[in-house]
Amino acid sequence: MTPEERERYARHILLREVGGQGQQKLLAARVLVVGAGGLGSPILSYLAAAGVGTLGVSDSDAVSLSNLQRQTLFRTEDVGREKTEAAKDAIARLNPHVTVTTHPQITDDNAAEIVAAYDLVVEGVDNFAARYALNRACIKEKKPLVSAAVGRFEGQLATFKSFEQPGVLPCYRCLVPEEPPRDEQVNCAEEGVLGAVTGVMGTLAAMEVLKELLGVGESLAGRLMIYDGLGAAFRIVKLPPDPHCPDCRKLPE
Ligand SMILES: [Zn+2]
Repeated sequence: MTPEERERYARHILLREVGGQGQQKLLAARVLVVGAGGLGSPILSYLAAAGVGTLGVSDSDAVSLSNLQRQTLFRTEDVGREKTEAAKDAIARLNPHVTVTTHPQITDDNAAEIVAAYDLVVEGVDNFAARYALNRACIKEKKPLVSAAVGRFEGQLATFKSFEQPGVLPCYRCLVPEEPPRDEQVNCAEEGVLGAVTGVMGTLAAMEVLKELLGVGESLAGRLMIYDGLGAAFRIVKLPPDPHCPDCRKLPE
């Protein structure tokens, strides 16, 4: 590390659980962030600030005025710009040492190839097709998937590592076997979301990513964290694997 890097990451290096070695791990890490929105904003900000060496950003939208209520990575003058490009500039201002690679929208056709180039994937997307594609790609490529979701005043967070312990740890599809009917889906565009909820859940997602990269603490894999913003309460429930899951079900070796 250069003297500048030692100073930049001094508060990490002070932590016994991180230290210089942990910081080196972060500098060498490659994380794919899918969705540069309300969740992606704190995820990208904290991972870039932490010195995660390579960040992939996937999003097909442009910044709109109605995004700015929660998507804190962007500024008013970014309205109309491609989110991936605006995110790249924001990250460069925060930490110029981070390499940012932009990717198109994730589909079943491109997911595995993109995911293969990263150590870990974190997603805060608003559609099920991308989530299922990422889930299958992460199982195939054996990469942890940190998944966050928000709606109204609530949020959910989980880490999926079914490839590590098939039949013991669940995958995303064990939790959501089929796409819910359209009218049952909580959709931020239709139902609204308090901006700070995306900040809470995105920051928690960044925390779980850093834990997985550093190999510290207790992984969230196998559990689901549920945040009730109005009640100011967190709940954690066990997440069992689905024995009939079409995506992850494999007989243990
Ligand atoms: Zn599964």
